[in-house]
Amino acid sequence: MSVRQGGPFGPAPRDPWDRFIEKVDVVPGGCWLWTGGRFSNGYGRISWGRTNKHLPVLAHRLSYLLFHDWLPEGYELVLDHLCRVKHCVNPEHLEVVTQAENLHRGVAVHKDFCSKGHAMTGDNLKVVHHRGYDDWLCQTCRRDVYRAYESRHPERKYRAR
Ligand SMILES: [Zn+2]
Ligand SMILES: [Zn+2]
Repeated sequence: MSVRQGGPFGPAPRDPWDRFIEKVDVVPGGCWLWTGGRFSNGYGRISWGRTNKHLPVLAHRLSYLLFHDWLPEGYELVLDHLCRVKHCVNPEHLEVVTQAENLHRGVAVHKDFCSKGHAMTGDNLKVVHHRGYDDWLCQTCRRDVYRAYESRHPERKYRAR
């Protein structure tokens, strides 16, 4: 279920990317720390939906959905933080595992276009290697996150490249 169709969280706000990007804090080492609310278990939280129906959802799962236009759902498939930082939402740090035995399934979903419509080819394609499968990420969308961060914190010029 894609972002445009509303995703597994239900109808998306009109500006899901903007709402996501403005709450990301980039730190050296690569984690994207969630500056919005947190669940009591430490995971980032964002309210999702339109008009008066808002649902709290996990920020790192939203990140995965935005970058992959697909989200592992259900009991067995979960997202694991490779960096062990619970409120990190960097899609490079998220890995799909199964609850049982942490075995990978055929989880890689390689799309020709990202959820924003950028072509996933050539220099725009960033391949992230996980144990047992590869993730495809959109470089343009990654740079958008860094650029937005830099524009909010010009004194902490990081790297939008
Ligand atoms: Zn991280
Ligand atoms: Zn993109």
